[in-house]
Amino acid sequence: MNTKTNLNSLDFQELENFVTKKLNLPKYRTVQLWNWIWAKNCTDFEEMTDVSKDTRRLLREKAYLFRPAVEKVSKSKDGTVKFLLRLEDGELIETVLIPSVAKDGGGRVTQCLSTQVGCAMGCTFCSTGKLGFTRNMNMAEILGQVQAARHYLQDTRPEHPIIRNLVFMGMGEPLLNFDNLMKSLKTLHHPKGLAFSVRRITVSTCGIQKGLKELGDSNLAYLAVSLHAPTQEKRAMLMPKAAKWQLEDLLAALETYNLHTRERMTLEYLVLGGVNDTAEDARELVKICSRLKAKLNLIPYNDTPGSPYKAPTPENLLAFEKALWAKNVTAIIRKSKGQDIEAACGQLRAEYELQQNSAQ
Ligand code: SAH
Ligand code: SF4
Repeated sequence: MNTKTNLNSLDFQELENFVTKKLNLPKYRTVQLWNWIWAKNCTDFEEMTDVSKDTRRLLREKAYLFRPAVEKVSKSKDGTVKFLLRLEDGELIETVLIPSVAKDGGGRVTQCLSTQVGCAMGCTFCSTGKLGFTRNMNMAEILGQVQAARHYLQDTRPEHPIIRNLVFMGMGEPLLNFDNLMKSLKTLHHPKGLAFSVRRITVSTCGIQKGLKELGDSNLAYLAVSLHAPTQEKRAMLMPKAAKWQLEDLLAALETYNLHTRERMTLEYLVLGGVNDTAEDARELVKICSRLKAKLNLIPYNDTPGSPYKAPTPENLLAFEKALWAKNVTAIIRKSKGQDIEAACGQLRAEYELQQNSAQ
């Protein structure tokens, strides 16, 4: 059994306790270590040049730095990069880098993070939902995705980050892994580490009652809600478990949600051809949007093999968008990136497992 401590799994206070109580080192070593781990993205105690040889030996004896290992990298024609990562116990998870161009013309990247191995919510359109739930990811695993991507991008200067934004929209339901989510968000914000500000982080939830208010009150991230249907009935069909919290109650909670100054929450609406893209759906959606300080993302469904759903036709999608704009709803069509590499949530792992099984 590994009796050493993975320092990537400790928040600042825990690291301080470890440094002072377990290693009997002076407190100032905490900031030094923290900075190497989170700002400089270091994986090897030997690289910590301002730490004495004896201390490095002590660190090697009592601690280690483990992050998920890159199992596979897939690159899309549109620049999206998807990583399949292997966790310490062999479980596989995914993270995606989505490129964007900043106002100054420089390359920027948004990273999509997973929070659970699989997901218990079983939404009917989602590849991760089909995997079922295996376990929660801890902070080292959640933030290990950022560390692995920074290493890949050679992104080592937090003051000029290549990864500008983080979205918790990968595998799993963040609010069902609440403690590890909060710990990760706090670590991301730490000024001596990665120093992510709140407006650079968005947490997406399918609408979980427990934890939603706390997330708003924490001041640690912006909010996105996977709505996907404008009525309780349709939502119950698409997202049977999430819809156990009645749409009306979810909306009431969102009306009083603690938004940051200038924040508008994001409503995500996966457009499924012939299922939730009718004129009636648009009318219902307008009613919902008029109640909330929100912007609406329309995401055309990314076709998945064996799925009962299909992408909307381009004409229907545009007509749907137009119907919303006509009623002053800010709706933006967000084309799923990386379609050629199965970049939608859960798709890569599903594809990979299929390949492994057929190779056996
Ligand atoms: N559990 C959270 C966070 C994960 S989000 C939530 O549901 O909000 C995963 C995102 O991937 C969701 O917005 C979902 O709508 C999207 N998604 C899942 N399958 C997809 C597909 N086949 N095409 C496009 N988007 C998909
Ligand atoms: Fe889970 Fe989100 Fe997929 Fe639903 S959409 S199964 S909540 S990951």
